[in-house]
Amino acid sequence: MNYIILDLEWNTAFSNKKQKYVNEIIEFGAVKTDENLEIIETFSMLITPQIGKKLNSRVKELTHITNEELTSAHNTFSHTLKCFEKFLGKGVLLTWSTSDILTLIENYNYYYHTEKLPFLSKYCNLQAYCEKMLGVYNRSSQLGLSACAEILEIENECLSKHRAKDDAIMSFYCLKKLFDEPKLRSMTELALTEDFYKKITFKSRFITDINNPNIDKSLMFFDCPKCKEKMSQKTHWSIKGKSFASNFTCNNCKEEYLGKISFKLRYDETAVNKKLVSIEKIKKEQERIKFQKEKGKVEKLKNTNVKNKSKKNTVKQP
Ligand SMILES: [Zn+2]
Repeated sequence: MNYIILDLEWNTAFSNKKQKYVNEIIEFGAVKTDENLEIIETFSMLITPQIGKKLNSRVKELTHITNEELTSAHNTFSHTLKCFEKFLGKGVLLTWSTSDILTLIENYNYYYHTEKLPFLSKYCNLQAYCEKMLGVYNRSSQLGLSACAEILEIENECLSKHRAKDDAIMSFYCLKKLFDEPKLRSMTELALTEDFYKKITFKSRFITDINNPNIDKSLMFFDCPKCKEKMSQKTHWSIKGKSFASNFTCNNCKEEYLGKISFKLRYDETAVNKKLVSIEKIKKEQERIKFQKEKGKVEKLKNTNVKNKSKKNTVKQP
């Protein structure tokens, strides 16, 4: 069994044909390993963009790829993909988070009008795997590749960040440090099914309509954090950001709280998050912010005075 770790670089470009922005892939980089996780081959190709004419300054800054390099590559997405198909073979494809595979699907769909990658048989999200192995799994914030490499004390000075092949190599080092074949196999998905694409392209979102049938209203209550008694709800639910919020009071302790509850719709579940903050704490925090702002204003005033003074001092003599 071969493992193929793929990393892509892309440039966001407006497509006249689609009348929307597309993440156009400009570089493929990958490493291929044998079943013992020894690198046997690497892959690196630049793609001449066909949708966007020029690279965004952010992409240029991040990758150090230039427009000239891409033009002189004289290479299309279709050609690169054909080469990559050969490179991948029947191996397991791994990417750091799903954003790379989603971008690959997006580009494939742009040129071939289907979301299904016919050359892909097995896929594993390496980021999710590393998070699980490190026990740092957190649904609200994902582990970055650099952060993971740092945790694992991987020396990466000789690798340039945000270049496809080097990022693929860095991902490979992370996998190598955390390699556990049965665990990796258990997190590898068969990519030939309809369900795989439904799941991977599903966009998680917060539910902000209280009448949405995915909301379990029986969960919309709070117990007092001190005496554990069920508290009384004092206000109607209102939307605050991505959460439903309402005031609660404990009839025993007479304390007031702001209760916030969010429902995030995922492919396989609705994730519920409940948070309780005492009203007193909120008031104190508001006062602190107000005080800081006032203090900031005074400091700013002081600084401008100092600046004006130093400006006067540096005026060149005629
Ligand atoms: Zn209480």
